[in-house]
Amino acid sequence: MSKPDVPFPQSPVVPNMVEGDHQIQFSCHQGISCWNACCANIDISLTPYDIVRLKKHLGISSTEFLREYTVPYEMEKDGLAGVKLRPVVNGTACRFMKPEGCGVYADRPTACRYYPVALLSMRRQDEFVDRQSYAIVKEDHCKGHEVARNISIDDYRQEQGIPEYDELARGWRQLVLKKKSSGPSIGAPSLKSRQLFFMACYDIDTFHSFVESEAFAKLFAMSDAERTLVLADDAELLQFSFRFLKQVLFGEQSIAMNEDAAKERLKNWQVRQVEIEQEAAEKRARLDEEMAREGFNEEDSGLGVCDDAGGSCSRD
Ligand code: SF4
Ligand code: SF4
Repeated sequence: MSKPDVPFPQSPVVPNMVEGDHQIQFSCHQGISCWNACCANIDISLTPYDIVRLKKHLGISSTEFLREYTVPYEMEKDGLAGVKLRPVVNGTACRFMKPEGCGVYADRPTACRYYPVALLSMRRQDEFVDRQSYAIVKEDHCKGHEVARNISIDDYRQEQGIPEYDELARGWRQLVLKKKSSGPSIGAPSLKSRQLFFMACYDIDTFHSFVESEAFAKLFAMSDAERTLVLADDAELLQFSFRFLKQVLFGEQSIAMNEDAAKERLKNWQVRQVEIEQEAAEKRARLDEEMAREGFNEEDSGLGVCDDAGGSCSRD
């Protein structure tokens, strides 16, 4: 077992990364003395597939769901946005919490299913695949750890219906990890790219209209059959949105484009790369100037260079 960094000394995350065959002692059931304690103080990040399930459960559009039930947050400075469940007004409890338990149980979010396990997805700069490990969350109020039931994390994931949720959100996690691990070489995404990321990942009904539009048809060389297929089902459309975003964020040719549109896009992409290099050079020059003004040099600064790609956790 390797040890990840634990950001705060009081963090309830046990500082060991474990694999799927790791056994946990845990059981949660109605009647336990801490019933609903975990849902009374929430900090739950949602995956795109969580939103698809919840908006369908509530019978509303993704746009309404985002407005009514979520708050956006920045996953990293100047980077991509994430979405969290909005708690009750002037409180910390989940709006879906009922005395008898979760009001959206069949469609509860990934983080709620995983608890008390946290998923850690990681991708290092020198690797092309992402890796999944887990950590255990032990909070004083949660008495589920005291119940004598042993189960492996793999079996717990099955029991909680997690594999489907992880599978359908994998493309999103890969995009986020790729952005995080690519560092400054890719540059901060433009405002337009960030808006497209938000729409394609979280506001699937607006993305649906976008894919249906004439503007989209002019840009992308998609057959009617392919378009009908991706528009027929939100989960299918979500997978398409991740392919679309690979193209928008990283310039990968994941969806065929009409020839003129492709040429235009390549030109724009090259212009953007030049701009990124210029911005980086200007930043470096400003920094050098400031350091020279302050009388700093590398030897007396005592600063080293850190090159840790880090990881992410579905529960913060
Ligand atoms: S969605 Fe359900 S399980 Fe998750 S915090 Fe809310 S009430 Fe609890
Ligand atoms: S055992 Fe833990 S997860 Fe279950 S209700 Fe209590 S606090 Fe929540």
